[in-house]
Amino acid sequence: MDRGAIAEVNLSAIAYNFQAVRKIVKNRQIIAVVKADAYGHGAVEVSKRFIKEGASYLAVAFIDEAVKLRDAGITAPIIVLFDRKEVREFFDFKLIPVVYNVDDALSLSTEARKRNTVLHIHVKIDTGMGRIGLSGNPLIDELEKIAKMERIKITGLISHFSDADLSDKSYATVQLEKFNKVRETLSRKLNRKIFSHIANSAAVLTFKDAYLDAVRPGIMLYGYSPIQKSEVRADSTPSLTLPPRGGGQGWGGVSEFVDLIPAMKVKTKILCIRNVALGSPVSYGRTFITKRQSRIGVIPVGYADGYNRLFSNNADVLVKGRRVPVVGRVCMDLTMIDVTDIKNVREDDEVIMLGQQGKESITAYELAFRAHTIPYEILTSLGGKSRKTYVKAS
Ligand SMILES: *Cc1c(COP(=O)(O)O)cnc(C)c1O
Repeated sequence: MDRGAIAEVNLSAIAYNFQAVRKIVKNRQIIAVVKADAYGHGAVEVSKRFIKEGASYLAVAFIDEAVKLRDAGITAPIIVLFDRKEVREFFDFKLIPVVYNVDDALSLSTEARKRNTVLHIHVKIDTGMGRIGLSGNPLIDELEKIAKMERIKITGLISHFSDADLSDKSYATVQLEKFNKVRETLSRKLNRKIFSHIANSAAVLTFKDAYLDAVRPGIMLYGYSPIQKSEVRADSTPSLTLPPRGGGQGWGGVSEFVDLIPAMKVKTKILCIRNVALGSPVSYGRTFITKRQSRIGVIPVGYADGYNRLFSNNADVLVKGRRVPVVGRVCMDLTMIDVTDIKNVREDDEVIMLGQQGKESITAYELAFRAHTIPYEILTSLGGKSRKTYVKAS
């Protein structure tokens, strides 16, 4: 048996979620965010599908991610959100840099002159995220400086919201107002409309005013909402009853707006099963002692595979369509599960760590809650480290 897990990515779900965005934003352009290997789903396959479904642009974080897409034959426009290091590669691979300081713009202009070409750039404004973006005072001077540089053309203006779930829009509204002001001023000075985008998934779901010319969703394309219900309480028992699943409901919280289908299933197979007596310790530190004669399954997945160590005694997996608890500490390469209650369970049986099996399902919301993190991190860590397979439907 190979180590680790397999992430089965449902491309029909990817397409469905894209069309869900399309329905919400109507004729706005859609920039599909595929950074971090498409949130762990595998950027090449997923990007191809987004383009087929009508994405106008792809967005990645770093140049090497964009180069991988180009190497796979993807010719669609690619926006590079953060990288600024290899000026030449923006030209070699026809990428759109997001420029967030004047010196970088100058280097791009110099290179463009050398090559006797014109490079299209998007310029980033920091409207309050406090991460990257022009924020000089007055900001418009910096923008004008860039706009006047030879052989680069500002074809986009971009900013990013700091409140990830936008449950309270007061700060986002301030950010949007700032952004709108800058784009109006710049439009006037350049005497043309500037293609502008600021909306992440949360904004697509809840903040219509922010749609502008294009939206830039990530997580919702993969079937998850950034908006989580905060009233979900902690429960120390591994098999706590969770709110019902279903297309963004319950742990999703935005179902009044949209149904989404989680696109990733992460699975493995039972490596071995042991019969152990009552009172037997399981795994490092003996944090779990059997309270009955038990059957303990061992799966070949551990924290090195992105299965968080916080799942120790604190998560369920699915076997034969039923929840079974993780027992003892998650190890580097192995995790133990209690399969005592599952009839006819055998070595090599399938184990679902994320996704649906029969009527049961483990969502990234649930795992995120148990590991004190967000679905984004569950998808990128667990999905990111798993071998991928692609299916058309699950
Ligand atoms: C990741 C990212 C997005 C997408 O955010 P989601 O919350 O996943 O929709 C959009 N824009 C930028 C700049 C990002 O870094």
